[in-house]
Amino acid sequence: MNSKTISVGDVLIGGGNPVSIQSMTNTKTKDIEGTISQILRLEEAGCEIIRMAITDDEDVAAITKIKDGVNIPIIADIQFSQRLALKSVVNGIDALRINPGNIGNEQKVKEIVEECKKADIPIRIGVNSGSISQDILDEYNGVNVDSLVQSALREISVLEKYGFYNTKVSIKSSSVPLNIEANKKFRELTDYPLHLGVTEAGSGTRGIVKSSLGIGTLLNMGIGDTIRVSLSEDPVEEIKIAKSILQSLELRSFGVEIVSCPTCARTEIDLIGLAKQIESATEKMKYNIKIAVMGCVVNGPGESKEADYGVTGGKGVGIIFKKGEIVKKVNEEDIVRELLNLIEEDHKN
Ligand code: SF4
Repeated sequence: MNSKTISVGDVLIGGGNPVSIQSMTNTKTKDIEGTISQILRLEEAGCEIIRMAITDDEDVAAITKIKDGVNIPIIADIQFSQRLALKSVVNGIDALRINPGNIGNEQKVKEIVEECKKADIPIRIGVNSGSISQDILDEYNGVNVDSLVQSALREISVLEKYGFYNTKVSIKSSSVPLNIEANKKFRELTDYPLHLGVTEAGSGTRGIVKSSLGIGTLLNMGIGDTIRVSLSEDPVEEIKIAKSILQSLELRSFGVEIVSCPTCARTEIDLIGLAKQIESATEKMKYNIKIAVMGCVVNGPGESKEADYGVTGGKGVGIIFKKGEIVKKVNEEDIVRELLNLIEEDHKN
């Protein structure tokens, strides 16, 4: 089933719109200056929607100022307090993240729904392995695809009861296969946009691999409308990985993509050094191109025919090629400069 479109601020989610990138601040929200500065760093890295935890009145009071200091839409993440949810809407938040089941009673949920309708903002419901209610766990024999999906459907039905359909949903598990199957099943049953992520993915290589597989597998099946890579790291790292997942699946392009050969006994250059130099020289370039950095003159051009441009070098010379065809031989120290000149020349008009 295709997802329908909702909007968080000016970011359209679902309905075939580009898969957007989200993150969450880890500053104290009431630390207005610190939070704004973290959001601006995240924006600069490519974050398109940000979520902040709202835990008390001081956090709610900070919303207006934080919104004034940043450019991307903000979601208020609220656990139990209806009061904080209502105040966040009044203070101009762009979306709420609540679970109706945590708000206390349905009258309270109804009041939140009425405020969100008035402000025309969506609600994100988030279900994870730890948030499934006991009766669903009992009925479906513990944490599994069915209990996760039923849990999400129950939360949705509370909002629907009050005529609210401006909802997006996340179903997360720290188990990658469970994450994939639950989201797949949910997608078969409803058209609500899906926020993808792997919860408690961890840090370092393990966290990156789990997030990439959990999110990437679903995206490659056409499932998922907005993503958050959750890592126990600086959130800016999450954005880099999210962009890399989307670019690798050819869903979005974020400028220059550098690819390099795995190297072997034929490698004739300092491949890592050259790749890093090209990476930093093209970091701000907006052209959607792929540059291959290859380790040897003999096989390099042929092995990287899919790339728009490529370079390799050996014994004092550098070779620059385009779509696998050699265009220029240059001195080794001129490789980067000559490559940049060629790209700029090609993109003049
Ligand atoms: S391009 Fe050359 S150096 Fe790189 S893996 Fe292929 S054969 Fe080895």
